[in-house]
Amino acid sequence: MKRVLITGAAGFLGSHLCDRFIKEGFHVVAMDNLITGNIANLEHLFPFEQFEFYNQDVSKYVHVAGDLDFILHFASPASPIDYLKIPIQTLKVSSLGTHNLLGLAKAKGAKILVASTSEVYGDPLVHPQTEEYWGNVNPIGPRGVYDEAKRFQEAITMAYHTFHDLEIAIVRIFNTYGPRMRLNDGRVLPAFIGQALRGEDLTVFGKGDQTRSFCYVDDLIEGIYRLLHSDYSQPVNIGNPDEITILDFAKEIIKLTGTDQKIIYKELPKDDPMQRQPNIEIAKRELGWEPKVNRAEGLKITYDYFKSLSQEELHRKDHNDFSKFIKK
Ligand code: UDP
Repeated sequence: MKRVLITGAAGFLGSHLCDRFIKEGFHVVAMDNLITGNIANLEHLFPFEQFEFYNQDVSKYVHVAGDLDFILHFASPASPIDYLKIPIQTLKVSSLGTHNLLGLAKAKGAKILVASTSEVYGDPLVHPQTEEYWGNVNPIGPRGVYDEAKRFQEAITMAYHTFHDLEIAIVRIFNTYGPRMRLNDGRVLPAFIGQALRGEDLTVFGKGDQTRSFCYVDDLIEGIYRLLHSDYSQPVNIGNPDEITILDFAKEIIKLTGTDQKIIYKELPKDDPMQRQPNIEIAKRELGWEPKVNRAEGLKITYDYFKSLSQEELHRKDHNDFSKFIKK
């Protein structure tokens, strides 16, 4: 049985990856320090023999017993609010954490796939963003702790590939949504749906003319799975090119939820990228991948998930009572 280490396993993307690798017959070693992850995202996997969970910060030395075929490094805070709350951990997990996991991959002879981000392009001056664009990042702005750590992550991962012949993959993830997103992480989709469900007005930042392109989580996971199994070692954009302004997105959420709340306008956060859309030609060519789920379908599934949460969950700030799930 092949063995995979997934860091950030209790997060939104990490937990969907765990599901996919269990489904594919892997032994999954899941790791998370639960700063932003939610252990409830993995609750359904604890009964499986081929699933184990470690509550660990990968910024510190990482030990895993036994063989590993693959490492997927998905541990990182991933929302602008998180970067402001925990900037040092954000920097450490993609720099020191990546270094630890590269060392582990080398020791185990494992292939490593690291989760990079469209944030490496910063507030892009090239549109849509191709992998060859180097980006427009403010290193000392509020997003700098994330953007620069992810850029360092790409650099050190590529250096291990070049100098140690390590097998690597780098995925640049664009805005992704779906069930298990954290309701209170400030990202736009859980913000709008949470507001609609709590009977609050929807907060559009700035004029709402900034754009994003939203990819449904199942499509992203498929792209990552294909990338891991390819021998392509340059960065690959994975995202859905269907671009929309944030104002139109708010209107879509109002229609979807049937809320009679209004749109209210708040100050645009500093360094908020004005436009973002992936060019996915490389993913199409190298992986035969393109997104299949359109926004109407994906949003409906996601809304059904958020609707199924209890009132308590809808208003809760902290999710992490993990003690009952830890294997003795
Ligand atoms: N946004 C908004 N209202 C909110 C939360 C976010 O208008 O309540 C905007 C935000 O300014 C940004 C976009 O939605 O332009 C996407 O924000 P998010 O934090 O989801 O991700 P980003 O792509 O900026 O990292």
